Amino acid sequence: MTAPLVTARSLSKEFEVGGGGFLGLRRRAMLRAVDDVALAINAGETLGLVGESGCGKSTLGRLLLRLIEPTAGRITFDGTDITALRRMEMRAFRRSMQIIFQDPYGALNPRMTVEDIIAEPLLIHGARQGAETRRQVTQMLEKVGLPARALDRFPHEFSGGQRQRIGIARALVLHPRLIVCDEAVSALDVSVQAQIVNLLQDLQREMGLTYLFIAHDLSVVRHISDRVAVMYLGKVVEVADKQTIYGAPLHPYTRALIAAVPAQHPSQRSRGKRERIAGDIPSALNPPSGCRFHTRCPHVMPMCRESAPALVEPAPGHQVACHLISS
Ligand code: SF4
Repeated sequence: MTAPLVTARSLSKEFEVGGGGFLGLRRRAMLRAVDDVALAINAGETLGLVGESGCGKSTLGRLLLRLIEPTAGRITFDGTDITALRRMEMRAFRRSMQIIFQDPYGALNPRMTVEDIIAEPLLIHGARQGAETRRQVTQMLEKVGLPARALDRFPHEFSGGQRQRIGIARALVLHPRLIVCDEAVSALDVSVQAQIVNLLQDLQREMGLTYLFIAHDLSVVRHISDRVAVMYLGKVVEVADKQTIYGAPLHPYTRALIAAVPAQHPSQRSRGKRERIAGDIPSALNPPSGCRFHTRCPHVMPMCRESAPALVEPAPGHQVACHLISS
């Protein structure tokens, strides 16, 4: 079994909100976006991270890269606890951890040429402007399927898919080990999505990359992931390999999410009992007591309102947080 490249233990993140009309709040309040999460990402794998919008997926991705600071908990990268590293100490790890953003329009500086955009991380990390940097940038541009003549052009001259290729080249130019793909294909047309997903898979094989693939589209996650983690209101509620998550999920929330995915083949349409999720996701400012899913769960029991279920492992590699499984 492959060793974890990244692990999170008891990881939490609270944001102070309100006091200025934000979210309609006059008073300050604490929003716990990520709550006591334990997660491991194995070297060379793609871990899909799914859940409804606002469940804390993107916050968790940024925490793992230390783009934002955790309120509590520990993050280990390749055996080193990076949680308490100072800025300068963290610099060496920054090379190894990169992010690809959702919005290929907003993520690229419109006033910079493609060459400058891709070269910037190299220069930040000590490279000098010149022939060697240009060679590395050109090589990376070609790796993502764009011609060298694109170097002197500006982002607005490219399509959405091409801009995302530029964003990928920028993320990969330092030869990182971990990439957080934060809704990296969500803003693209379906046909372009497939091209970018295939490109990410090719680059993973070629460069030995590890991905955290954050998305709300479960079909895309199924295609690209080795394992899948499911989040609900800041908590990880189920983690397993892709076959188990899509074929035999145990958590009622995962079951409802999977049931909502359109079947790929007519023979799959009537298979199994459909579980639907009632209502909207509650506010993270005032999350339900006990199991956070209890206000929407079709199997809710009295104990679910009182105590939060722990993440247990009913089978090797399959973790679930639900009293139905642990009691
Ligand atoms: Fe439903 Fe209770 Fe399980 Fe939560 S703990 S998912 S409310 S059965």
